[in-house]
Amino acid sequence: MRKFDGKKLLVATHNAGKLAEFTRLLEPYGVEVVGAADMDLPEPVEGGTTFVENARIKAHAAAKATGLPALSDDSGIEIDALDGAPGVYTADWAETGSGRDFKMAMTKTHEKILETGEPQPWKARFCCTLVLAWPDGEDAVFPGVLDGQVVWPMRGAEGHGYDPIFMPDGHDSILGEMTADAKNAISHRAEALKKFVAACFG
Ligand code: IMP
Repeated sequence: MRKFDGKKLLVATHNAGKLAEFTRLLEPYGVEVVGAADMDLPEPVEGGTTFVENARIKAHAAAKATGLPALSDDSGIEIDALDGAPGVYTADWAETGSGRDFKMAMTKTHEKILETGEPQPWKARFCCTLVLAWPDGEDAVFPGVLDGQVVWPMRGAEGHGYDPIFMPDGHDSILGEMTADAKNAISHRAEALKKFVAACFG
């Protein structure tokens, strides 16, 4: 596996919550993390139908535009009662036309689950696919998963996105109630990042 030899890593996301998680997770490796918004990069259209396709689109667009190795994340929540939805469309479900509203998205998600009549536990998983793209076009893919269930009502003030309605297996608290360190010890993003670190810094 190709090793990371630069000092700067572009994290190709405009999502401040994700960028904060990456910055914290990559702190021990002495690499300077810059976000897509810091580089004024436009948000590419995520036209793929899988996490890996969308992650590739974002990583390659960012690496090409900046000449830096770029790490992108495509992630979302798959809910069994909804046949895997919202999946790659997780962020789209929060779209309002004037920004993203995750309270609205979580309420809609809960209503859709209730409509199915499926009994609890509402099994679900957070998925994360990381792609590291090099400016010369080579890339590498690192997946991570966090199994759990959707719970209602929303709880907690920590985290981002759908954290207030997700309880990981083996835990009594939900992601929205966990500290950043507790979430980073188990999260789908941390698992994928561990694979990235082992491959590229190991
Ligand atoms: P995208 O990868 O930018 O398309 O967005 C994925 C969406 O999935 C985010 O906007 C969040 O709503 C959701 N998501 C992904 N990872 C997490 C997480 O760790 N906690 C809560 N929500 C997440």
